Amino acid sequence: MKYLFVTGGVISSLGKGLTAAALGTLLESRGLKVTLQKFDPYLNVDPGTMSPYQHGEVYVLNDGAETDLDLGHYERFTNTSLSRFNNLTSGQVYQTVLDKERRGEYLGKTVQVIPHVTNEIHNRIYEIGEQSKADVVITEIGGTTGDIEGLPFLEAIREFALEIGRHNALFLHVTFVPYIKAAGELKTKPTQQSVAKLREIGIMPQIVVARSEHHLNKEIRQKISLFCNVPYEAVIEEKDVDHSIYELPLMLQRERLDELVCDYLGLDVPTADMRHWQEIIRKLIAPQHRLRIAVVGKYIDLNDAYKSVYEAIIHAGVANDCGVDIEKVDAGDIEKYGPEKMLRGLGGILVPGGFGERGVEGKIQAARYAREQGVPYLGLCLGMQIATVEFARNVLGLKKAHSTEFDPDTPDPVIALLDEQKEVTRKGGTMRLGAQSCELKVGSRAAHLYGAFIVEERHRHRYEFNSEYQERFEAAGFVFSGISAEQKLVELVEISDHPFYLACQFHPEFQSKPSAPHPLFKSFIAAAFTYATHSHQVTAKRVDSGR
Ligand code: GLN
Repeated sequence: MKYLFVTGGVISSLGKGLTAAALGTLLESRGLKVTLQKFDPYLNVDPGTMSPYQHGEVYVLNDGAETDLDLGHYERFTNTSLSRFNNLTSGQVYQTVLDKERRGEYLGKTVQVIPHVTNEIHNRIYEIGEQSKADVVITEIGGTTGDIEGLPFLEAIREFALEIGRHNALFLHVTFVPYIKAAGELKTKPTQQSVAKLREIGIMPQIVVARSEHHLNKEIRQKISLFCNVPYEAVIEEKDVDHSIYELPLMLQRERLDELVCDYLGLDVPTADMRHWQEIIRKLIAPQHRLRIAVVGKYIDLNDAYKSVYEAIIHAGVANDCGVDIEKVDAGDIEKYGPEKMLRGLGGILVPGGFGERGVEGKIQAARYAREQGVPYLGLCLGMQIATVEFARNVLGLKKAHSTEFDPDTPDPVIALLDEQKEVTRKGGTMRLGAQSCELKVGSRAAHLYGAFIVEERHRHRYEFNSEYQERFEAAGFVFSGISAEQKLVELVEISDHPFYLACQFHPEFQSKPSAPHPLFKSFIAAAFTYATHSHQVTAKRVDSGR
């Protein structure tokens, strides 16, 4: 088994996760089995308790682990299946060490960062290797070199490489090469210093991936090679992508990164066949059609808050050969200016998941607008609860209907706390989480779209549809098309007398890939395209004649 460690220097938000994921794509295309793992130096046990402002999206795995959004990139770029073992935080490491200490497992020793904390980190790398049976384990270390909190992880991977032997481990360092406009030059000094920082603690990166807004010329590459002590061909340019993050594997292949990695690790495998990926990129870059849809949320100014939702929309666009422009609509603006003004002319309306009261009334207005105007609607988690409250208020006439999350005293709690949640007081990792089976109703739109009667989808919520209201909803034309196999909770709802009105309690966005777009997103985008074309409110233009 071979191990590749990805570190980052100079600045944060370099896209280390994407680099690791794209390398994963390339290695898989060479026939290798790959797994990816993320180490996060913060002390939270997982990101589940962090605000989207702090952390962006919380990505949920099949086993219910709430993880860093880089794991979303790993799953979208590769076929690896991930579990809670693929994301380790300092919080988890210390929790394990302290539990052991309390159990007396250190037998009178002083418990220290080296070796006790670092050993715990080694265990996790070995564990993931054993579980995955991968040929290559890619481990990404979060944060930036020089951060105090990242030190135990760096020390641990240094020791680990020593233990398993140099030819089995590879260090790849992602840095930033800034362009100084006034001088008209790219600057390598920050890269030199961040590699020097790594060397100080005994890690000699063998590959330097330089993120940059411009091409690296020969001179810059030579400079990085000389000062960072890596061969010329191990200086890899990673320029900002022109159109899409999915171009990255092809860019890195042109830089021969995968070839270099295989050479270093002594992996004798065929070259990567990327034809399928090239076809995806073609559709991404030059789609036949274009479409505008709305995502109505409260974190619309944060690019990372609805990451997987945006990605799933892009994948669905590829499946429909349609470039989708996402209008990020602030739910608060709908409250202020009305849905007509904010949503008119858009091909579809998507309300994603969310917590907390802000913006809820705006989302309810968006759902009403979609239902009444026949605009395709896709509701995800909170987006399903919103659709239900809207229907209760405006179709069933239950004017004060609400979710008890937002109005605990509502006379009509159409959305209420799950029974299993009633005794829960701790916040971390206590929601209904992870993949569960859902049975689809024969003849429903959902069953037709999935082409199946049982599906597995991932969850992250505490509230659910209150089944006491089920009959009243059904009598008014609301269809409950998906019910969880075990708990009999409502999972999917739809309105049949509508071009496309579908909402789910689960998060389909976590299971969409460019190579396998999710059926619900795919049909939502197809319906939005049809709606846009027919309503003439959006011009579905041929890109070549339109630009
Ligand atoms: N806040 C809602 C709940 O807890 C919805 C959660 C979500 O959208 N992820 O049930």
